[in-house]
Amino acid sequence: MSYYQVKNLEQYFKHYNKSIREPRKFWDKIADENFTWYQKWDKVVEFDMQEAEVKWFVNAKVNITKNCIDRHLAKRGEKTAIIFEPNDPKEEAKHITYNQLYDEVAKMANVLREQGIKKGDRVCIYLPMIPELAYTVLACARIGAVHSVVFAGFSASAVAARITDSGCKMVITSDGGFRGNKTIELKSIVDEAIKTCPTIETVLVVKRTNAEITMKEGRDQWLQPLVDAALPNNVAEIMDAEDPLFILYTSGSTGKPKGMLHTTAGYMVYSAYTFKNIFAYEENDVYWCTADIGWITGHSYILYGPLLNGATTVIFEGVPSYPDFGRFWEVIDKHKVNQFYTAPTAIRSLAKENWSWVDKHDLSSLKVIGSVGEPINEEAWHWYNDHVGKKKSPIVDTWWQTETGGIMISPLPFVTPTKPTYATLPLPGVQPVLMDEKRNEIEGNQVVGSLCIKFPWPGMARTIWGDHQRFKDTYFSTFPGKYFTGDGALRDEVGYYRITGRVDDVVIVSGHNLGTAPIEDAINEHPAVAESAIVGFPHDVKGNALYGFIILKESGAGRMKENLEKEINEHISSHIGPIAKLDKIQFVSGLPKTRSGKIMRRILRKIAEGDFSNFGDTSTLLNPEIVEEIKQGKL
Ligand code: ATP
Ligand code: MG
Repeated sequence: MSYYQVKNLEQYFKHYNKSIREPRKFWDKIADENFTWYQKWDKVVEFDMQEAEVKWFVNAKVNITKNCIDRHLAKRGEKTAIIFEPNDPKEEAKHITYNQLYDEVAKMANVLREQGIKKGDRVCIYLPMIPELAYTVLACARIGAVHSVVFAGFSASAVAARITDSGCKMVITSDGGFRGNKTIELKSIVDEAIKTCPTIETVLVVKRTNAEITMKEGRDQWLQPLVDAALPNNVAEIMDAEDPLFILYTSGSTGKPKGMLHTTAGYMVYSAYTFKNIFAYEENDVYWCTADIGWITGHSYILYGPLLNGATTVIFEGVPSYPDFGRFWEVIDKHKVNQFYTAPTAIRSLAKENWSWVDKHDLSSLKVIGSVGEPINEEAWHWYNDHVGKKKSPIVDTWWQTETGGIMISPLPFVTPTKPTYATLPLPGVQPVLMDEKRNEIEGNQVVGSLCIKFPWPGMARTIWGDHQRFKDTYFSTFPGKYFTGDGALRDEVGYYRITGRVDDVVIVSGHNLGTAPIEDAINEHPAVAESAIVGFPHDVKGNALYGFIILKESGAGRMKENLEKEINEHISSHIGPIAKLDKIQFVSGLPKTRSGKIMRRILRKIAEGDFSNFGDTSTLLNPEIVEEIKQGKL
């Protein structure tokens, strides 16, 4: 029996039980049967969770790009690997075959080697969502350089901080990037950033917008002429299973971004396995994930996971609202997308618009639709299910983290019955546990606690770049011997998991533990509410009380504030209980978000407490102007 794909619920339980009873045998078989190795492992896994030391496929030798590209060439050489959909719908989409991808990556790998990049060197990639982003990421992996992709929306100081932290030798960027009706001057941001980065020796520049830029003699070069002069074949570097593959900084919702280090073999096996199962990918499917490759979702589920499975993956340069709110749906129709994977923030923003934007496009190609990044609230779930999935394409609500490398808890389509707001069941190989304040494991169902994972899985990050102590302290010390996710969860009567929000955001009101997600969920169900965020603030009697920041829909904008406040609280009372009523409500026009679209509650908490002095690290904040506005509204 192959363990690579789960086909039905009975098989899920079979695979799951096997993966818990005999994790080594389970992963050994998956790794052995589905990948190309130079040399197999001596041991499947070796670990000490107290010390945060984990190794998978010990002493195996492999190159991930041989698995993403070379091995497909015989059978899938002329199959489309990447569909590039440009920002401007009038610009023609590009179909890049596996043969072409091989040539491009080989040439790019040769360019990097000629420019002095060697195995182990760090390369910062700061590019828009264009094919060169895929080529350069894969070229790094080909020669064993460690890629550190920085989302091309970050400011110069955020780029500089990341380059310095990982000691990059090279930056690959472009003259600029298109995003909706804006262009971003990436090269000048890099110029500014690297003024303070002495480790940078070379800057390679892709031409995309034809923006006027300055090139510094001896440091900066246009990439294309170098690629044109390079040979289209390249011998891949032989990598140890535990050699670093990439560094990726977490989104920064909760504090200083951490440079998570992922290594080669375990990440490869885990991203491939999870992609195949979560999206039920079949040979001729077209798969589209709308994330940016600058986030872990893009690493694992735009590039590595799909390419490892020989899939066709869409790279979309644009934004959901350009040229209009129908863009996502138009692209699905145009490329006959079968699996679509996006974030709750995008779903909520599109659900605010008229649903005729969706209904005018033919979405009948869709088979599976997914969500990632934040809890998806019930109202958004139903909107997604009704208008996009048409109640026939299952929603996979996938819970995972930059640190986990791949999806950990999620329904499998056509296997696990879905339930709104529930990420449902762990993937085979994943052993979640809920812990109480006394650090005991909570047994049984219908319980809430801190979500931990008690056994290693292949995709887990191995360390924080340059700071193993912080890695150990952050993830392995709170509950010794277990990986602590930082998220809270509840387990329902059948064992399904629901993520209730970050443990740090849990508010204790009169002794009751309240997660943020279920309360926001209840608020968002009110017909006048578009989006909300709640935080706690100190209260003389209750210890803490709840403060709600609420964005109204257009329909609610003209209504009496007092009436709305009363209704919203009645709504919370009937959905959750009077204990969760909000003491203060502030109507706002937006919420502070990270560049990956997540609410930054820690800033709201400060505002609710009336402490405007220090908002901590705000380098990943997308919309500082909204913070100012909310502060003014509070005063
Ligand atoms: P930082 O760690 O720097 O604060 P971040 O946690 O936002 O940033 P990511 O690794 O991108 O960075 O996000 C992982 C987090 O996103 C999870 O820990 C969880 O809180 C949230 N999350 C992701 N997917 C889901 C989901 N399906 N349901 C609920 N929450 C989710
Ligand atoms: Mg996190």
